[in-house]
Amino acid sequence: MPQEPHILGVCEIKEENDIGENAKEQVDAFLGKARDADALAGLVLEMDPTYRLIPAVRRTELASMALETGRAWAHELRATHPAEDLALLAQQLGVEVEFSDEANEAGDVVIRSEYYDAPARIVIYQSSLEKTREVIEQAGLAAAIDPGLLLPIHLAHELFHHLEHLKQDRLSQRYKVPTLRIGQWNLIVSGVRALSEIGAHAFVQAWLRLDWFPFAIDQLERLTRGDTRDPVDRWNEFSKKRSWFGGWK
Ligand SMILES: [Zn+2]
Repeated sequence: MPQEPHILGVCEIKEENDIGENAKEQVDAFLGKARDADALAGLVLEMDPTYRLIPAVRRTELASMALETGRAWAHELRATHPAEDLALLAQQLGVEVEFSDEANEAGDVVIRSEYYDAPARIVIYQSSLEKTREVIEQAGLAAAIDPGLLLPIHLAHELFHHLEHLKQDRLSQRYKVPTLRIGQWNLIVSGVRALSEIGAHAFVQAWLRLDWFPFAIDQLERLTRGDTRDPVDRWNEFSKKRSWFGGWK
């Protein structure tokens, strides 16, 4: 199977650190929503390129399935692997963790961690994590989002993708949408990548016992940078850019 990078952590880095009044209000509003896992999971799904191909009546059910799976796998794993130390846990689960000082950026997009399944490997981009830490601190959000949790959050997130690989049960493949249909024939079908992401966020939240949904970091970071564009539009722009770099799966 070809290596398929898993990407977590999309954020824009700009020189300007001023938070406009409008963005400040949105940050406050967003902090209020950070505990609402159902709403944030819905947003993750809505940002998926396949969203409009999923029948409206199935969307909530699919997001809930992914949330419940992430939580269940965290509880299952804790029962068999009680180690709190995520690096040790990674070792026990047979995945190598590599810390890179290189910046992994594509245009204005910064990637904080990745998972590769052949061979199993997690890459943590330390300078990207550091930038996120600075954003959280400078925006006065450290009380709400402990920057010390950034590394465990990203390790746990990628461990979830490793579990998907070990179990041969990628949540993104549990539901397929036709992306090319002629008449009654579905010529091309695609999985829903957002389901894997929702599962990973739910896994992280349960494993680290967070009272907020980890996807909130991406959203808060974007808002504190003063980017108040609609997240769905922004995601679509990003997806288009990715296609120039060899495709988005
Ligand atoms: Zn992920």
